[in-house]
Amino acid sequence: MSDKQIFLNGEYMPIAEARVSVLDRGFIFGDGVYEVIPAYGHKTFRLGEHFRRLNNSLSAVQIENPYTEKQWAEIFTTLLTSAQGDQSIYLHITRGVAPRDHGFPAQTSPTVFVMCSPMTATAATLLEHGIAAITLDDIRWQYCRIKSIALLPNILLRQEAIDNDAMEAILIRDGFVTEGSASNMFIVKGGVIKTPPHSDQLLPGITRDLIVELAHQHKMACEETSITEQELLGADEIWLSSSTKEVLPITRLNGKPVANGKPGPVWKAMYQHYQVYKQQLRDQANS
Ligand code: PMP
Repeated sequence: MSDKQIFLNGEYMPIAEARVSVLDRGFIFGDGVYEVIPAYGHKTFRLGEHFRRLNNSLSAVQIENPYTEKQWAEIFTTLLTSAQGDQSIYLHITRGVAPRDHGFPAQTSPTVFVMCSPMTATAATLLEHGIAAITLDDIRWQYCRIKSIALLPNILLRQEAIDNDAMEAILIRDGFVTEGSASNMFIVKGGVIKTPPHSDQLLPGITRDLIVELAHQHKMACEETSITEQELLGADEIWLSSSTKEVLPITRLNGKPVANGKPGPVWKAMYQHYQVYKQQLRDQANS
C-alpha cells in the first residue's frame, strides 16, 4: 500500500487512508473543478496563472474558493517537501456532501483534495518522431473554459484516439479546430504559428498561453486566430500543449504524415525556448 501523502479537507494523510462520502457531489454529479500545476525542482510553475484559472472555474460554477493563495501555497509546499523530483500537483474541489438533488445544497462546505504525482520526462522517442492524432467531432458542452472534473466526453474522445493507434484526438466544431481531448492545439503554416483564441469552446491552457508569450518574446510570428479543419489538414506542423506534455509535435494525422512526417523546425525552436524557461525556474529555486 502506498504511503504517499495527500491533503484532504484540512488534513494530511497517506492516500490509502483518504475517504470521501458516496454522497459527495463530485462522485454523484461530477460537480466540481480541478487544476494541474507542474512543480519543477519543488518550484510551482505559473502559479498565479493557475490560481486565476481556478478562480474563474470556481466562480463559473458558484463554488467559493475555500482557501487564500497563501494557504494553497502552504499545502503545495508541504506535499512537495515529501516528494522527490519534478511533480504535478492535482487539486480538486467539489461542491461537497449533500443529499442527492440537482439544485445546489443550502449548506455544505466544499471537498478539497490535493495530491502530487511524479512528472515523468517526455520519452525521447516522442520528441524525435512526434506522435499520431486523429480528428473527431467536438461533442462537448458550451463551457469548455471551465476546468470541470466532469470529463466523460474527453475520456470517450481520448479512448477513440487510442483505439485508432493515436495519442490525441483533435476536436473539430463547426469546421474549426477547438483543442485536443486534454491539450491545446497549434499549427504552423508558412512560418506562422497559429492557435485558436480563448473562447467558451476551449480550456485556456496555461502552457498554451506560455507558448504564445515565448513566441512573442523570441520574435516568432504567432497569431491567435481560428483554424479551419482544412488549414489543419494542410499544416506544415501541428503541435499539442499541456502542463504534463509541454509542447509535442504531431507528425501523423488520420493515418497520414503531417508534411514530411517529421517534427518541424519551428517546433524545435519552441521546444528549446520552453526548456530554457523551465531551467530558469529551476535555477531560481536553487539560488
Ligand atoms: N485543454 C484541455 C481539455 C485539457 O484537459 C488540458 C490539460 N488538462 C489543456 C487544454 C491544457 O491545459 P494546461 O496547459 O493548462 O495543462
